[in-house]
Amino acid sequence: MIAWSKDDERLKEGIGLWFGKFAEDFPREPWLAVMESGLLRLPFDEKWGGLGQSLLTTMYVLEEPGRGCPNTGLNFGITTHMVSTGVALQRFGSTALKDAYLPRVCAGTAIGAHAVTEPDSGSDMLGMRTTATADGDCYRLSGSKAFVGNGPVADLVVVYAKTEPAAGPLGVTAFLVPRDTPGLTFGDPVEKMGLRSSPLCSLFLDDCRVPKTHIVGRVGAGFLVLDHVMTWEILCRFIVSTGEMRRRLDRCVEYAGQRSAFGRPIGGFQAVANRIVDMKIGLETSGKWLYDTAEKFTAGRKVTADLATAKLVAGRAALDSALGAVQVFGGNGYLAEYGLEQELRGAVAGTIYSGTTETQYNRIAATLGLGRAA
Ligand SMILES: Cc1cc2nc3c(=O)[nH]c(=O)nc-3n(C[C@H](O)[C@H](O)[C@H](O)COP(=O)(O)OP(=O)(O)OC[C@H]3O[C@@H](n4cnc5c(N)ncnc54)[C@H](O)[C@@H]3O)c2cc1C
Repeated sequence: MIAWSKDDERLKEGIGLWFGKFAEDFPREPWLAVMESGLLRLPFDEKWGGLGQSLLTTMYVLEEPGRGCPNTGLNFGITTHMVSTGVALQRFGSTALKDAYLPRVCAGTAIGAHAVTEPDSGSDMLGMRTTATADGDCYRLSGSKAFVGNGPVADLVVVYAKTEPAAGPLGVTAFLVPRDTPGLTFGDPVEKMGLRSSPLCSLFLDDCRVPKTHIVGRVGAGFLVLDHVMTWEILCRFIVSTGEMRRRLDRCVEYAGQRSAFGRPIGGFQAVANRIVDMKIGLETSGKWLYDTAEKFTAGRKVTADLATAKLVAGRAALDSALGAVQVFGGNGYLAEYGLEQELRGAVAGTIYSGTTETQYNRIAATLGLGRAA
């Protein structure tokens, strides 16, 4: 069991909230199990409590919670936590910031989130209105953010704000803001279609004073941080989703072998078998795109089009696989007790978060010289 320290009281409450009110399947124990497993430590430097593993190894391991854990909201929360603060800090944080926060992120005793999207700007990130104004040794942050994954239970949020509104993409800066910072408040958790065990909320910054030492990276380099974090987010989140697709495939193969209609197993009908084969092709193609992109990224090569393609392929395959599984299970697929409708609701979000399907198309189009990337 985890030995909680006094400092972790708020986290205990948070976990209670996460796995109490919002859990579909579990009480809070799964997060403790995740913490104990060492999963959260995988890609981080050993100096700060990590296991020093590469992106590719991290992805191989992350397939397993996807395959083994039907709580897709928990899986979503794990990757949000790892990439939003951990990856941002590891790559861009000062040594002092890493010393102060990375060990808790690695241990899972401080839950991470990031806040980019605003009520009036999502895909159009440059349209963000949150500002950060220099004031002595601090910046004063004002504005509001929406759709903060892990927000209701987060201890640390990387907030993206405009430090120089006229400077366009070079005018955004990333700040690490601990939950108890005066001027930072969180909205109530919002109800949503799926991923219900991964709570989401808005946050509000009202003249919130954040020390300059809490800047992640450099002033004006927020989009550089975000680009790196989003690359990790897509690769890690969607490799988890290939694990989920593999579990659905296994379930469908088993079900199609056991369920009979017209005197034979339904897997003997070509229409059913083809649907299952499509699920397999979708998951294998997704894995290939994700791992190939990760390898290229690790080698320091440009992956704009590859990443967008990987996200499109994997997001669509996850949705097709969830819908296919419901169909293979027939009426049972529509019942909550089989868990597939919950997975379908979760898969819909994969075409929206980490950049919508349409904006991924824009990115690929831009690499072909067709229009401007959004
Ligand atoms: C489950 C979930 C978790 C999330 N977690 C986080 C989080 O942790 N932190 C965070 O900051 N955000 C988070 N988000 C927000 C997410 O990143 C945004 O919802 C997403 O970027 C889309 O922005 P939007 O909702 O404002 O839609 P809009 O940008 O308003 O888009 C509406 C529609 O218009 C389309 N559209 C917009 N611009 C273009 C264009 N140029 N060309 C073609 N089509 C276009 C979009 O594709 C979409 O179909 C989360 C969202 C979800 C659903």
